[in-house]
Amino acid sequence: MKTQVGIIGSGPSGLLLSQLLDLQGIESVILERQSREHVMGRIRAGVIEQGTADLLRTAQVHARMDREGQPHDGVNIAFNGERYRIDFKGLTGSAVMVYGQTEITRDLFEARDALGGTIIDEAEDVRPHGIDTDSPYLTYRKHGEAHRIDCDFIAGCDGFHGVSRQSIPADVLHTYEKVYPFGWLGVLSQTPPVADELIYAHHARGFALCSMRSATLSRYYVQCPVDEDLADWPDDRFWDELRRRLPDDAAEALVTGPSIEKSIAPLRSFVAEPMRFGRLFLAGDAAHIVPPTGAKGLNLAASDIYYLSRALTAFYKDGQQALLDAYSETCLRRVWKAERFSWWMTTLLHQFPENGAFGARVQLAELDYLVNSKAAMTALAENYIGLPY
Ligand SMILES: Cc1cc2nc3c(=O)[nH]c(=O)nc-3n(C[C@H](O)[C@H](O)[C@H](O)COP(=O)(O)OP(=O)(O)OC[C@H]3O[C@@H](n4cnc5c(N)ncnc54)[C@H](O)[C@@H]3O)c2cc1C
Repeated sequence: MKTQVGIIGSGPSGLLLSQLLDLQGIESVILERQSREHVMGRIRAGVIEQGTADLLRTAQVHARMDREGQPHDGVNIAFNGERYRIDFKGLTGSAVMVYGQTEITRDLFEARDALGGTIIDEAEDVRPHGIDTDSPYLTYRKHGEAHRIDCDFIAGCDGFHGVSRQSIPADVLHTYEKVYPFGWLGVLSQTPPVADELIYAHHARGFALCSMRSATLSRYYVQCPVDEDLADWPDDRFWDELRRRLPDDAAEALVTGPSIEKSIAPLRSFVAEPMRFGRLFLAGDAAHIVPPTGAKGLNLAASDIYYLSRALTAFYKDGQQALLDAYSETCLRRVWKAERFSWWMTTLLHQFPENGAFGARVQLAELDYLVNSKAAMTALAENYIGLPY
């Protein structure tokens, strides 16, 4: 088989790239390790920036998002039993949208199918070859048969555990990592959200987050040890723990119900540089991971794809190489700012017993400063709604 852009991974990065390229008349083939049902069933991000929403509109996958997505003009920060609102709209003129990654993925699959896009799922042992030559290619196996796809470029959209990043020679690749000493225990439940907007709660027992996917679907998290056993967290224990970490009014308003998904996610900051080697371009989680506190993971994947689709379009339409050459540097400038913000939100809101009593007091002072300073709230707001592309 032959195509222009070979894409590894059918997560949001790979699907969105393939869709944007197709609209510009550029061919691609996606190779995905898992089945489509598996990819569509993953419960992940939920908050999208204005820039991501606009890119989904450019990709013509916005109809359901604009109908069902919920604009959020602010968030709540809770500590010392009180709740404070950060008014994104008032401070920056902009807002975010709550629309689940699961829904975005479904919309993208439907759009790719409608345009006749090629997505090969359950592809085993996918490997990029010749990435430092002008004729790279991909190999994979399906139903026991070996296949090869020749392409002009390879997009590594295969997430943190994918094969693309590992294909960059070790003496070229630099990685930067911070692993946090706790995880997030998350529950999805078919219950109305406790509040209209997200609540980020700092509490002596640990961080908690009240989020949502729709008016009838809630997503809640509590900070927990990363090696915690899910079997030790029946629903009742989770709801009790969440209630204890929320301000009284929220704890009283909380509607509980059976969990329809429960999982523990580790928290990690990670960046790989460069994001390009020869004809291989990394995008999304393949190149960087953020702790979910700042709601940036999916949004960073989208901004990478904005830069990559623009660069590939300039190459195919105008024979221009400059944007491809600048890809890694352009992405990393935005990536590192989102890394900084996600690390800062995580540091501000979680419990870090290893920082001692002094660290805990400084944290409370910073929270108090944040909710009483227009400058500090504006800094949070402009990062949360998303820095410009
Ligand atoms: C548990 C969890 C919770 C999260 N919560 C949030 C959140 O609340 N807010 C937020 O902003 N972000 C969140 N994220 C991050 C967000 O989901 C990711 O940033 C986003 O999915 C990145 O998209 P991607 O397409 O780059 O990678 P992925 O979604 O990881 O997609 C990569 C795809 O590549 C495939 N693949 C991997 N290896 C291979 C291979 N060798 N061959 C072929 N295919 C391969 C995978 O199966 C997958 O389908 C969360 C992530 C996780 C894991």
